[in-house]
Amino acid sequence: MIHAAFMNFLEHRILQEGIVKEGNILKVDSFLNHQIDMGIMKEIAHEFQCRFKDCPFNKILTIESSGIAIATLLGFFHDVPVVFAKKAETANCTDDKYVSTAYSFTHRRKNHVFVSRPYLQATDRVLIVDDFLADGEAAHALIDLVHQAGASVVGIGIAIEKAQQKGGDTLRAEGYRLESIAIVESMDACSQSVRFRPQN
Ligand code: 5GP
Repeated sequence: MIHAAFMNFLEHRILQEGIVKEGNILKVDSFLNHQIDMGIMKEIAHEFQCRFKDCPFNKILTIESSGIAIATLLGFFHDVPVVFAKKAETANCTDDKYVSTAYSFTHRRKNHVFVSRPYLQATDRVLIVDDFLADGEAAHALIDLVHQAGASVVGIGIAIEKAQQKGGDTLRAEGYRLESIAIVESMDACSQSVRFRPQN
């Protein structure tokens, strides 16, 4: 058990209000995924500003829908535009879009995700943000969209990483600068317990 003094604001909030569901799903609807608590959104956005202050970015990219709130506040604080990749059941691929695919862990289906070409330019230095990182499907689709545009990924900011799934390890092994505010090492639906990876 991690002593409360060593936990950050997001870990505290997860312990207070998070609900562990069967199938390795953490529900944080009361402050992040359904009702949005602006206080914690501000803290998350400030935390990303601090963690990425050494790597300048001129655009933020996220994926609909839950990443948008975090990305919007960060974009406001940092004064850069926010682009969100849209999800579609069909590729409907026309020339004016960059299109990729991501399997949705929570909805258990494959989505096509796209960004209209004018919103990603080859000169862009992009910070990717999202609410959760599980298997890394969403993050890899966003990276793919950035690369299709010839732009560069400066980093990836995640509110809650679930370390039992492969996304975090894969992205770090690929050399991406990944910053996760809360890293869930393990969780259990029966006891409603959540353990975090200690961070300094
Ligand atoms: P990945 O693409 O990394 O497998 O999964 C990340 C995406 O799935 C996030 O955009 C998030 O919306 C959703 N997701 C994955 N795991 C969870 C979870 O435990 N709880 C919630 N609320 N969303 C999750």
